[in-house]
Amino acid sequence: MESLTTDVAIIGGGPSGSTCGGFLKKYQPDSKVLILEREQFPRDHIGESQLPLIGRILDELGVWDRVEAAGFPVKIGGTYRWGTTDDLWDFDFLPFGQFDDAPRPGRYEGQRKRTAFQVDRSAYDKILLDYAEELGCEVRQRSAVREVRRKGDRVEGLVLADGTEIEAKWYVDATGHSGLLRRAMDVEIDEPSSLKNVAGWYYWRNAEWAVSLGVGGTRIQILSLGYGWIWFIPISPDRTSIGFVCPADHYKKSGLSMEELYRRAIAEEPRLQRLIQNATREDRFTTTKDWSFVANRMAGPNWLLVGEAAGFADPILSAGMTLAHAGAREAAFLIMEAARGGNVPWMAENYERRNERRVRQHIRFADYWYKANTNFTDLKEYTSEIARDAGLELSGDQAFQWLGTGGFIEEDMEVAGLALIRLDQLHSLTGRLSEAPATSSLDGYSVFLPHLSGAEQVKVARFENGGVKAMVALRRDGKFLPLYGLFGLMVDALKFSPLLNEAFGFVQRTMGDAFNHELHARLTECLDAMIREGWVRPKKFGEAPAVRHELPMETAAIHQHTPDRGDGV
Ligand SMILES: Cc1cc2nc3c(=O)[nH]c(=O)nc-3n(C[C@H](O)[C@H](O)[C@H](O)COP(=O)(O)OP(=O)(O)OC[C@H]3O[C@@H](n4cnc5c(N)ncnc54)[C@H](O)[C@@H]3O)c2cc1C
Repeated sequence: MESLTTDVAIIGGGPSGSTCGGFLKKYQPDSKVLILEREQFPRDHIGESQLPLIGRILDELGVWDRVEAAGFPVKIGGTYRWGTTDDLWDFDFLPFGQFDDAPRPGRYEGQRKRTAFQVDRSAYDKILLDYAEELGCEVRQRSAVREVRRKGDRVEGLVLADGTEIEAKWYVDATGHSGLLRRAMDVEIDEPSSLKNVAGWYYWRNAEWAVSLGVGGTRIQILSLGYGWIWFIPISPDRTSIGFVCPADHYKKSGLSMEELYRRAIAEEPRLQRLIQNATREDRFTTTKDWSFVANRMAGPNWLLVGEAAGFADPILSAGMTLAHAGAREAAFLIMEAARGGNVPWMAENYERRNERRVRQHIRFADYWYKANTNFTDLKEYTSEIARDAGLELSGDQAFQWLGTGGFIEEDMEVAGLALIRLDQLHSLTGRLSEAPATSSLDGYSVFLPHLSGAEQVKVARFENGGVKAMVALRRDGKFLPLYGLFGLMVDALKFSPLLNEAFGFVQRTMGDAFNHELHARLTECLDAMIREGWVRPKKFGEAPAVRHELPMETAAIHQHTPDRGDGV
């Protein structure tokens, strides 16, 4: 029987596997990387609507141009029927009016950095896997891993379905939902949410798009009904994914098949009916359960879990692929730093903390979305149970604090936010989803005093340029404050003066021409997050003028939907 040795064996050739393999070869071309994929690509897969962060990762990997050349629809955002009313509203990464009718294929610059793709996974996953192979990964398709051999907490080898034995220095579980290595290593999972949904979908040919902007620009549609919700995602110029999600309990009690429920949901949605009146359905109806979970461990002495093998959050936030790409990139950087003699336990701890936090935040956020949706008229008991189990209150400020349990400071993005959503966007979102919008933590105060005592100085990992760098941060009560990037700048500014105008004057002098309206807004968000996490104490002080910081519900990013340019329905 054949036996192989390699530096890194990656099980699974989906987006996490190919991203991890691609980065390994990009930054360490001499390493030997083997990707084992059970299927022969192209193959269909769910998970089509992306977030802009993926563009940055694809660009760093060097594959963005190829993805762009495939002509996938450009996602500028989404239209939602969700929240405290049944009105439609839009969440735009790039404000509608700012979208230029630029020719395609475009370049990863300007407006394209603020948009995302909606991808047909049969094409997308193949582009990525082929690219990883071109970079030098050995890719074996139709090569299912049958067995993971272990000794204690170390993986000793893999055995393929055809008996081939593989030994590697590192093993990466990128098997998605099946979590092959995770199970073999007896890693338990936590299911922190009571959300237990099932999904069913068909692909459609020649559906109209709800919105058509320039060349290939559009929004996804997320439309809730009384008992579930529908996604409408164009994934190529003529192919659209239309899915239906409802609680598993509702499905069981309905006495209908998932396909019958799907057909009923589609028939009940007039907005959709108009879009599919000239469309044809493909043959295959697919169903899955989408129960959120997070692995209790994501790294061992010579193995890592990436993507959906490490955790999954309900698809309402379209975040799975973003988490998969981001985590896989970090896994690759960790392995490369380890080869340079890096401190594996420290890197592994950082890898786990970041990735676990991301998944948990998304799960928490999904709980909030479901509970906040008053359109779920038939699911009140279900959504109340979710909120009760999660300890979630629905007033804007309470919800905001609850959402921020894992912290508002995104080390990854070095900006303030949560679940990859910036803090100011989160404010207007709570306005849509809560009974009352959240208020700013700055408003009405005049001085902002850094409160850093009792914090321990620690090193946190920054994953960049194919390696892992140690950066200085403060840790207190399980929360981290980076002393670099925008947060570090804000700490220095407030140490200079707790009066905001003087603090920003300090920033202006430090940053010179780079100081602009955008940076001012980002730093204000950082300050908001630092107050919410107790790193800064706001006070009213004598005659010092109070800061006015009002948070409008309607913003360029999140606003009431109006049938606008290019809107087909
Ligand atoms: C209903 C639903 C809707 C979703 N919608 C979205 C969305 O809109 N946006 C979004 O970002 N995410 C979405 N997701 C999540 C998204 O599908 C996943 O996050 C993403 O596919 C994870 O990528 P991955 O590479 O980790 O796993 P996968 O894409 O599942 O890839 C795993 C690969 O491993 C292979 N494999 C498995 N076992 C073996 C084995 N034993 N040997 C060899 N190979 C193996 C599989 O064949 C597969 O190709 C959705 C998920 C669901 C369930």
